[in-house]
Amino acid sequence: MFELATLDTELAAIEVIRDVLLHQRRLRGGGCTGRVCLRCLRHHRDAIAEAIARGRTIELLLPAFPTKSPNPAKVLGPLPDMAEELALRFLESLCERIAEVYPPGARILICSDGRVFNDLIGVSDENVTRYAHEINRMIDRIGATHLGQFTLDEVNPGADHAQLRARLTAGRGPHPDELRAEVRRGGHLVQMYRGITRFMLEDLSVPEYTGSRAALQRHCRELAYGVIARSRAWDELLAELFPDAIRLSIHPQPCRTRKIGLLLADTPDVWLTPWHSAAVDTGDGHFTLMKRAEAEAAGAQLVTAHGRPSHFVLPRDHATVPAP
Ligand SMILES: [Zn+2]
Repeated sequence: MFELATLDTELAAIEVIRDVLLHQRRLRGGGCTGRVCLRCLRHHRDAIAEAIARGRTIELLLPAFPTKSPNPAKVLGPLPDMAEELALRFLESLCERIAEVYPPGARILICSDGRVFNDLIGVSDENVTRYAHEINRMIDRIGATHLGQFTLDEVNPGADHAQLRARLTAGRGPHPDELRAEVRRGGHLVQMYRGITRFMLEDLSVPEYTGSRAALQRHCRELAYGVIARSRAWDELLAELFPDAIRLSIHPQPCRTRKIGLLLADTPDVWLTPWHSAAVDTGDGHFTLMKRAEAEAAGAQLVTAHGRPSHFVLPRDHATVPAP
């Protein structure tokens, strides 16, 4: 076991949490202040300090990398591409920075949640399987030794996909009616509900859809409640399976909550994720995320790698990245 002979546990914990909070994804009006929010730092310090005092690798859990959006106007295809690769490289570099402060380091377990709700968002189980498989291959290819992936498939090996989801939600997660009441009362869930509804609306506004916009909006609001309920069930299951892990989230979080919101990429839209967009090289070696149609409208050129579409490059004379 690693002994903290001279290193002060408290100081190491503060350094580690500071490294994470430098990439914090904050909820607008959520109460965080400053470049590194000191209230959030104090809030999460003890859990990190506990892992450090025991000389353990710090376990960070990140429900993320579910599956690509089914909308071809947003993404390059159903499989991970440069957008995911950049996010994985960022997560790996975060763990490397933590290991510089605290040698036993940190490990991020990506809890891929595609199987949890893919039936609600119109993505096939086969595509979820292929996406998760390619994420594992990508982790190996880029040599990310601090990252791992955990999926619902591993909870009940051998069960079919519908059974996996049924077992997940049996006795876990809120009823959609409870979520409806929570949204009506206002509070932080409203922003998440609106964000997810917006994504569903974009994802399902495909050329094949022939119904009215109002009907699609109603449908997406219902689906958003379903996605949130399933995500909460997944969250509860992860808490049962990994009780000591530090919880991360790709969703903006209010100040001093159980989870730390984490920005996976430099993007002007805090809700945009690698699986809802494509990576765009802005010409100076700097990458951002844009929806595929927006990148194409800006004149970006498609680049292929490993036999598949990978990312876009904006033309050299393109001075600014358009807002989403
Ligand atoms: Zn805060």
